Amino acid sequence: MRLYLASSFIFPRSLQLRLFAVCFVGTHLPLAAFLVWAAATGRLDVLGAIVVIAATVLGMLIAVGGIYALLAPIDLAARALNDADDGEIAQVPQLSGGDLAARLLAGVNRAAGATAERMRKLSREANVDVLTGVLNRRGLLQQLDTLSEQETTGAVALVDMDHFKLVNDLLGHETGDRVLQDFAKVLAGTVRHTDLVARWGGEEFLVYFRGATEAQAQSVLMRIAERIRNEPLAHLGERPVTFSAGTTAASRGTLDEALRRADSALYEAKHRGRARILSNAELSC
Ligand code: GH3
Ligand code: MG
Ligand code: MG
Repeated sequence: MRLYLASSFIFPRSLQLRLFAVCFVGTHLPLAAFLVWAAATGRLDVLGAIVVIAATVLGMLIAVGGIYALLAPIDLAARALNDADDGEIAQVPQLSGGDLAARLLAGVNRAAGATAERMRKLSREANVDVLTGVLNRRGLLQQLDTLSEQETTGAVALVDMDHFKLVNDLLGHETGDRVLQDFAKVLAGTVRHTDLVARWGGEEFLVYFRGATEAQAQSVLMRIAERIRNEPLAHLGERPVTFSAGTTAASRGTLDEALRRADSALYEAKHRGRARILSNAELSC
């Protein structure tokens, strides 16, 4: 590295030109020596000099072509690293053999693979709730954004654990965390894999039933309620922990409005005594 740095005063911005300068000196030194010797001894043979000069020029051209050809992998590696888009490095073609260029390109590909994996992991983590493993609010909104134009209808449910503060107060925060994890598992395991389950905040979850009617969404939630009645997540005294839910039909692009309706239904479900699933349509009843 020291020798490399020492030579950097020659064409400091171009490795190719620096190599060219080295080759130029290397190939012209014999020519210069020959011409000096011939002139000093008076044996300058014009034809011989032409042949040597022509051979030197040819040697130079081969050297220049060779330098550009052999530096191509280094150029490729430098461009892949410099053009990294949002931290993602593009893969480069792999060379067989284990020479310096092959090792350099293999290193770039390893770095590209590692950064791609890290980016995937970061993006997954940014969209997933750490405690429960279901989507977080950001992840759900992102998924809803990617729904195809054809998927215009569905149903939304806001699901909130009942008296969850008591779960923490009576059974401890760790048990509270475990109950949230188990409940998220039951939710995610009962809905279809095309539906979306997210932790909307605290002890509240949002389920988006893709392409489903509100009645279908309610029937799934009733199955979940029955499941946690039969296999309680925890008990508050004698009573198993329950949830309340508000549901509504939703259409693409009107999620905010649907959320307001589902929230009103959830509020009313709590008001009417909890442990129930209420449709927004039932509010006037
Ligand atoms: P309600 O039936 O009206 O919904 O009553 P609630 O007690 O469930 O509702 P409230 O909003 O009064 O309390 C919510 C509780 O949920 C309080 C908060 O500490 C707890 N909580 C929120 N996030 C977490 C969490 O990540 N882990 C645990 N263990 N508890 C949490
Ligand atoms: Mg609650
Ligand atoms: Mg709540």
